[in-house]
Amino acid sequence: MKNIKDYDLQELKKELNLIGEKPFRAEQIFKWLYEAKVKDFDEMTNLSIELRNKLKENYTMCNFNILKKQESSDGTKKYLFDVLDGNAIETVLMQYHHGKTICVSSQIGCKMGCKFCASTGIKFIRNLTSGEIVEQVLAVEQDIGERISNIVFMGIGEPLDNYDNVINAIRIINNPKGLNIGARHISLSTSGIVPKIYDLANENIQCTLSISLHATNNEKRSSMMPVNDAYHIEELLQACKDYIKITNRRISFEYALAKDNNDNLDDAKQLVKLLKGMLCHVNLIPINKIENGEYTKSTNENIIKFRDYLNEHGIVATIRRELGSDIDAACGQLRRKNLKE
Ligand code: SAH
Repeated sequence: MKNIKDYDLQELKKELNLIGEKPFRAEQIFKWLYEAKVKDFDEMTNLSIELRNKLKENYTMCNFNILKKQESSDGTKKYLFDVLDGNAIETVLMQYHHGKTICVSSQIGCKMGCKFCASTGIKFIRNLTSGEIVEQVLAVEQDIGERISNIVFMGIGEPLDNYDNVINAIRIINNPKGLNIGARHISLSTSGIVPKIYDLANENIQCTLSISLHATNNEKRSSMMPVNDAYHIEELLQACKDYIKITNRRISFEYALAKDNNDNLDDAKQLVKLLKGMLCHVNLIPINKIENGEYTKSTNENIIKFRDYLNEHGIVATIRRELGSDIDAACGQLRRKNLKE
């Protein structure tokens, strides 16, 4: 059966038209789903019983169950959700002074194979649907009884490898009649699938694009991220420049610092050369060591030196605060989990 949360407002209007219903019904349903956050068609009391029955016959509501919830000493919460087909995904809630941010997964497993990431090494199962992405936000909001203010596509999966569903989910999240979270409060992080960066540039969505760069030459980047064999740094940065030209939006580059690998001042120098003059920001992430991983965290001293070098040479750089590492909820620590695991 189809999931009603897979549709953005326009598509839902079309769907309802197929069963002989007027477009305003779609708006009513959207209100129930995303404003009232009901969990059952029977709660949609301004719809006739006949229509509610029709909806029940044709659609599910995909309400996730929380299988497990862990809370970090810093307030970060990690959820393991039952996605109702025998699989489970992780979603993380982070509390910042400026609001609540949720880190959503876009796939069950990941194909990208980045060497430093815990989502690697586990089998890719499938893409999440738009409704399953949206449901992560709804389920967390429901659990905490508060609204989420920011969304980052930085959980399990490569969002641009599940392009259509992710874009559609962003439209539902962003729609004032949907979850009503401003596009500027949504970040999408990619390992660098170049053709999809161009597609995204032309979507006219004002979300923030983050690029997982992590290295300044092809040899090193390929050794960390196999996707670099398909799209070299030069091609990736050209796509970023074109993205900025088309959208007028600042790009955020993520650079995970690994000891004795990509964290010395020579790397910082190269990074300045690559990014000079671009409308961008660098987010430095102290790398989180994963089980059997070859990379370890840079020293604090090196991280600060690296940041200062960038800032002194005209590249705005900040160090990402580490949240949730005590519950394996920090960057790169999420894994796909089977219910049986
Ligand atoms: N597939 C997307 C989004 C998921 S990862 C991407 O690659 O961008 C979100 C961010 O966490 C990416 O920048 C990723 O490179 C980074 N990351 C992954 N593993 C990490 C680790 N062990 N330590 C620090 N950052 C990591």
